[in-house]
Amino acid sequence: MSPKPRSLKVCPSNTAASDAEQISKLRASQSPIAIAVQRCPTWSSLEPLRFKRYWDNDSNGVLLNTGQTAYFTLDSPTRPRLSGGPLIGDYIFEQMHFHWSVDDFTGCEHVLDGHGYAAECHLVHYNSKYESLEAAVEHADGLAVVGYLLEAADAPNPSFDMFVEGLEQIRKPEHSVVVSAESLAWMNREDVTTGSYVTYKGSLTTPPYTECVTWIIYEKPVQIGMEQLGLLRQLEGADSVPIERNVRPTQRHPPGHSVIYVKQIKAKL
Ligand SMILES: [Zn+2]
Repeated sequence: MSPKPRSLKVCPSNTAASDAEQISKLRASQSPIAIAVQRCPTWSSLEPLRFKRYWDNDSNGVLLNTGQTAYFTLDSPTRPRLSGGPLIGDYIFEQMHFHWSVDDFTGCEHVLDGHGYAAECHLVHYNSKYESLEAAVEHADGLAVVGYLLEAADAPNPSFDMFVEGLEQIRKPEHSVVVSAESLAWMNREDVTTGSYVTYKGSLTTPPYTECVTWIIYEKPVQIGMEQLGLLRQLEGADSVPIERNVRPTQRHPPGHSVIYVKQIKAKL
């Protein structure tokens, strides 16, 4: 008798906490990468991701044109925190920034199943066991970055309004504007806790490309209006011409460096 074929679905029989431990031991590679989602092992026993103080934060933030990207930070001692899913411990929100291009298909860094999108948003968090983002970068479990793929749509997405209003005022490099924390709250609350994502151990996609990031990339893209995208694309770099492209090309993903597809199960309350 031949042995039963092994299911593609890898569901370790132990607890959710040790699922995160297994992910923490994956070998890191350079980012971004192209991911064939269908070929990733599927795990559904991880804890749900927990986003705290993203939607109920009344502090102000600053939106800055760095000359390379639109860069949002919060001016608050009580920053949002991320935990659960593949993460062990709490990760503190540090900054949000964007990658884009001149067209609607080459502006994302990660590529899922060959689909290109107009832009990608990164929410950067550092492990609360380290003193700062700078200290955390030195460690393999230092950073957790949540990535959203942004899909161009005809109609504007009202949840980006706050953020986009800020963009109008930072067209020139080094310009910044005070915006409300609502600029951060465009993610759909339902989707962040029930949406599927891919996770792997990777690197920063800007110099020094340190391999210190647990990536969490949501499968479902978020829509952004063409006009809203236009405001990102009109941001000027140091040479006072619009930043055309701030995307690192996908990197070779060596064999044996796993990407896990995580199906989130709605938490029982
Ligand atoms: Zn980024």
